[in-house]
Amino acid sequence: MVGNRQPEVNIGLVGHVDHGKTTLVQALSGSWTDQHSEEMKRGISIRLGYADATFRHCDGLDEPECYTVEPECPDGSESEPLRTVSFVDAPGHETLMATMLSGASLMDGAVLVVSANEPVPQPQTEEHLMALDIIGIDNIVIAQNKVDLVDADTARDNYEEIKEFVEGTVAEDAPIVPVSAGQEVNLDLLIQAIEEEIPTPDRDPDADPRMHVARSFDINKPGTSAKDLAGGVLGGSLVAGELEVGDEIEIRPGREVEEGGQTEYVPIETTIRSLQAGGETVDTVTPGGLLGVGTGLDPSLTKGDALAGRMAGPLGTLPPTWNEFTMEVDLLERVVGADQGETVDEISTGEPLMMTVGTATTVGAVTSAREGECEVNLKRPVAAEPGTKIAINRRIGARWRLIGLGTLTD
Ligand code: GDP
Ligand code: MG
Repeated sequence: MVGNRQPEVNIGLVGHVDHGKTTLVQALSGSWTDQHSEEMKRGISIRLGYADATFRHCDGLDEPECYTVEPECPDGSESEPLRTVSFVDAPGHETLMATMLSGASLMDGAVLVVSANEPVPQPQTEEHLMALDIIGIDNIVIAQNKVDLVDADTARDNYEEIKEFVEGTVAEDAPIVPVSAGQEVNLDLLIQAIEEEIPTPDRDPDADPRMHVARSFDINKPGTSAKDLAGGVLGGSLVAGELEVGDEIEIRPGREVEEGGQTEYVPIETTIRSLQAGGETVDTVTPGGLLGVGTGLDPSLTKGDALAGRMAGPLGTLPPTWNEFTMEVDLLERVVGADQGETVDEISTGEPLMMTVGTATTVGAVTSAREGECEVNLKRPVAAEPGTKIAINRRIGARWRLIGLGTLTD
């Protein structure tokens, strides 16, 4: 069996729609042999847009030709696995910033895909780069894609446009690798750049396990009889510690209950019944990559992403749940993605904000705004550690726009 190692690092695919993110992920993970296909895994990969790829090395070849995803080297020998990475690629219909931002909290690095045959930057190219900047993801590789569609001069001009565009941003020193995801050109060079720029973070195996739940679902086919029902499944990433089958976990904030016209959130407790990582059923999981957690929960609780944005971990170890909080605020100078020059006004008391806290997206009303700080009252609570970075969005015109960064204080 080739590959099937647990991924150890999460790499976001960001950039403007149609610039080739999904095609690139497919090109890099295409030779993934999917022999253990089952409902749970299928559900996870479709719904999350995660795809794993094992980067490999052919001894005896020079850089970059030695880097590959193929199990076999040109001379017929077997390639050596270097590491398995997990790409986080938002599904095509989810180009919303909120989705990208909540995914960003799981990313250890990112590949910014920029199409060589369009002027730079396109709106989401700019928005996504700004989001990386704000969240502090600074391990970035730029893939200048679709070079097969342009001549050499256009490619060079486009390269210069990209260089100029990233000047002064978090991607200033990021390598720009010309590729064709469609024609599978220069993928070796791209793998080399990712190996060099996006290292696997140091992780403490003794830390309290903490999982960000990005999605949740019911894997049962309609009409499954009650006795055959599989428990609810959580999909997401472990950012610290280890989880094992049999562990008792808690999910916070849990589920919404209504009592006497009041809505409350109660933590949910359950047992881990099965674990999936790197496309395999495993007994233990460590941080990195996409994780599927089969639980003993009634699948109606997990259906349709009902538990997305929650945190999971051993009983009594999770950070507090906040119905309201204070955050330090760092506003951007300009509204991201808006017309040139639209400046960001101070946050005012009473205004609604949309905030991404970890993988959770929540709307709140500002109850008190002071310089550099504000208090918000949340519609739906979030579980988060003080110090958590928050992406702050304001409604401008018809949509939410990123206006700044918050830091949860208390
Ligand atoms: P995404 O929205 O960024 O995920 O973009 P997709 O991966 O869905 O690609 C959008 C379109 O561009 C598809 O029709 C792809 O076949 C095409 N495409 C992607 N990469 C390349 C490339 O390197 N060369 C060419 N010619 N087309 C590409
Ligand atoms: Mg796509």
